[in-house]
Amino acid sequence: MLITIDTHSGFCFGVTRAIEAAENELQKGTLCCLGDIVHNGQEVKRLELLGLQTIDYDDLRTLPAHSRVLLRAHGEPPSTYWIAQQRGIEIIDATCPVVKKLQDRIRACYEEHRNDEPLPPQIIIYGQPGHAEVIGLQGQTNNTAIVIESIDQLDRIDFTRPVYLFSQTTKSVEGFHALVDAIKSLISNHKSQIVPEVHDTICRSVANRVAQLQDFARANDLVIFVGGAKSSNARVLYNHCKEANGNTFFVSNADDVENFKFEIINHKSTNPDLKIGICGATSTPLWLMKQVRDKLTNLQPITSDH
Ligand code: SF4
Repeated sequence: MLITIDTHSGFCFGVTRAIEAAENELQKGTLCCLGDIVHNGQEVKRLELLGLQTIDYDDLRTLPAHSRVLLRAHGEPPSTYWIAQQRGIEIIDATCPVVKKLQDRIRACYEEHRNDEPLPPQIIIYGQPGHAEVIGLQGQTNNTAIVIESIDQLDRIDFTRPVYLFSQTTKSVEGFHALVDAIKSLISNHKSQIVPEVHDTICRSVANRVAQLQDFARANDLVIFVGGAKSSNARVLYNHCKEANGNTFFVSNADDVENFKFEIINHKSTNPDLKIGICGATSTPLWLMKQVRDKLTNLQPITSDH
């Protein structure tokens, strides 16, 4: 039996950077993180054992002066920095540089066009309403940006007014292109002269993963996908894996492998050269995939009392 961990799976650059910042800062003393540092309960638990305290916005407003708060890779709206400044809180800013650049672009667009006459502009963000990164992006426009998640929400846009389109970094490239086509066709239906300004701001470190993941899934007989139960990115990538290889199983931790023990041992008994691939989401830590690998390696045959 050959077990391989997908080298493209696991934390993206931005999340790795935020976690390294947390580990470094924890050595200097008490540290809070505004929201879960990553959508993976196991990794959050690991960092909490090192002393990281996860807080929410209500906590932020009541923290004593000089508290240290880490901002995760998703980024934050300007109001968070303002609250911290008012309360004398020290910010450790681990916003991913890709997200930071996107925030700057949206803010620059907002500042440049906010007073345009006679047709006030509309900044559209293709993203998931309420997602932490999207809240940070909307904040750059004084919360005037319109968040669109799918084509059927396009009736919220006035196609007689200028349109500036951006995307949350983790949305799908296909979904974005479909949205752009739909916007252009609606503008033409309205016989409007508006030319939408389109900014493809999808992060390729995630977008390129689907094809790589599907290649990996096809190259193995059986796939164990490791992801957080609450992570939407994990669910999406798991479904892509399953599409490429029907023998794909979702686990959140090494113990979950027990749930699929029968199938795995069954495959192994009919194929001594069984190839098992382990992969995960952008929020799945490498150490967790290694624990799953160790569990698989030590998997004992099922005895009659199981
Ligand atoms: S997905 Fe891309 S933009 Fe988002 S945190 Fe990771 S590296 Fe940064």
